[in-house]
Amino acid sequence: MTYVVTDACIRCKYMDCVEVCPVDCFYEGENMLVINPNECIDCGVCEPECPAEAILPDTEGGLEQWMELNATYSASWPNITRKRDAPADADEHKGVDGKFDRYFSAEPGQGD
Ligand code: SF4
Ligand code: SF4
Repeated sequence: MTYVVTDACIRCKYMDCVEVCPVDCFYEGENMLVINPNECIDCGVCEPECPAEAILPDTEGGLEQWMELNATYSASWPNITRKRDAPADADEHKGVDGKFDRYFSAEPGQGD
């Protein structure tokens, strides 16, 4: 089992999650974060910290697309363990549907 970041994170990136993860297994893309499923110890601490409700346990159904995305990009994006300021327009993108098709970027973020 692991926890998974979904498209609800895209362009929100509040980064409250990275501060609480005991094993520092978040990785940063240009527009969202992902969790490395091989490093996550399933503690669940990050899930309630995410204001966008973007983090879910993989035991929930229908997350295959996001599980694959987390596994793929956590292998190439840089590690992030320290919270920075969220994007200025983060709140405008909170809870909006269809963000993956409109905004997903495979480009890496800046990391720590
Ligand atoms: S707190 Fe939630 S929305 Fe923010 S970066 Fe972490 S997973 Fe993404
Ligand atoms: S469940 Fe725990 S180990 Fe996994 S990403 Fe969240 S805080 Fe980190």
